[in-house]
Amino acid sequence: MIKILVLLCIGRQLVQAVPLSPTEVEDFLIDPRYYSYDELTNAFRKLETENSQIAKLVSVGRSVKNRELWALHINANVHNRTLLTPMFKYVGNMHGDESIGRQLLIYLAEYLILNYGKVERVTQLVNDTDIFLMPSMNPDGYESSQEGLCESKPRYVGRENENSVDLNRDFPDQFEPHRAGTILSGRQPETVAMMTWIISRPFVLSGNLHGGAVVASYPYDDSNAGVQCCRESKSPDNEIFKQLALVYSDRHSIMKTGKACKNDNFPQGITNGAYWYEVRGGMQDFNYVKSNCFEVTFELSCCKYPPAQTLPQEWATNKESLLSFMEAVHWGVKGLVMNEHGDPVLDADVVVKGIDHNITTSNRCEFWRLLLPGKYSIYASAFGYSPSDTVEVEVAPGKTTIQNFTIKLETQQGNELRTNNGAIGGDRWYWGA
Ligand SMILES: [Zn+2]
Repeated sequence: MIKILVLLCIGRQLVQAVPLSPTEVEDFLIDPRYYSYDELTNAFRKLETENSQIAKLVSVGRSVKNRELWALHINANVHNRTLLTPMFKYVGNMHGDESIGRQLLIYLAEYLILNYGKVERVTQLVNDTDIFLMPSMNPDGYESSQEGLCESKPRYVGRENENSVDLNRDFPDQFEPHRAGTILSGRQPETVAMMTWIISRPFVLSGNLHGGAVVASYPYDDSNAGVQCCRESKSPDNEIFKQLALVYSDRHSIMKTGKACKNDNFPQGITNGAYWYEVRGGMQDFNYVKSNCFEVTFELSCCKYPPAQTLPQEWATNKESLLSFMEAVHWGVKGLVMNEHGDPVLDADVVVKGIDHNITTSNRCEFWRLLLPGKYSIYASAFGYSPSDTVEVEVAPGKTTIQNFTIKLETQQGNELRTNNGAIGGDRWYWGA
């Protein structure tokens, strides 16, 4: 025990971390090293076994070489999500040689579980948020990468997946010409697994962790301008995306300078993705365009795979940003959309006047609409129903406003379209619980 305390004290001096509260535990920083795929698997299995009430290991799919795409699901009610609890995810290492985010997500899992019931902020986060942490979306690439290399290997071995495909160029893109086949045709197994996960689950907010720069980059990553860079491509939610990016960069002492790496110049440490450089087929835009999930990309280090001794410092630098960005999932308005009989209406649109991007309800008729503080006019609508009354909703800083909507069946045709559980069918996405 004394040895552990000494090591922790030495670690604190080295990393100049914010002092821990008396009950806070960060034992995972002792003897820092990167976990291999097998070590990650064993560590997550152990966390699940020893904390089965709040942790559950899930595999989202498999890589080309049959490695599992592990995510640790953390919540106080991990086996049965409580109604209206928002879902959050962090995804790391989609470029297999960008390794800081991968290890930080393993640390974050340990931090949340070790400190649940001890640190009030952690307890509240785990009680109120359905958290999914995926350290590696590209485990094959990671196993081909080498610690200490700051740039990618020749031919991007390690960055790309086993089939030499850049996974952050392999998603459907709103500006891409129509491709033959289904939306999944011709895509890599890692991409198909992520697309299916993103579309079938009602995620609200997501962080995508990369390396090779230090900046928070928000949608859109792509445009139809036909240029490489230097032109903003704004989404309808541009203002909240900027604030979400700032949540991370403001709390990151290096990122917020905007000048961490050679030639960097990012005011406040944030950038519109396409303004920096255009990415066609990226995961960030896919989340926003094809699901209800808002995703922001965080580039964490100039060196893609620095020596493991830097990990405690990286944890100290990113910890507050990682936690605060997760807490932002509670910004805005949430509620239920039901019909006049009290039946849930899945796939209803929740419309915010003035923002051309609707959110749809889950199969439990829930919605979560991320919004900045202010006053909004909001209504719900669904096929076969008359729109609800428009409600003036006030959003306060850092808090969730609850607002339910009732919509009425419009016609006899609408009645006939009702399914047995009271929901209207349609050709939109179907959300799992
Ligand atoms: Zn990357």
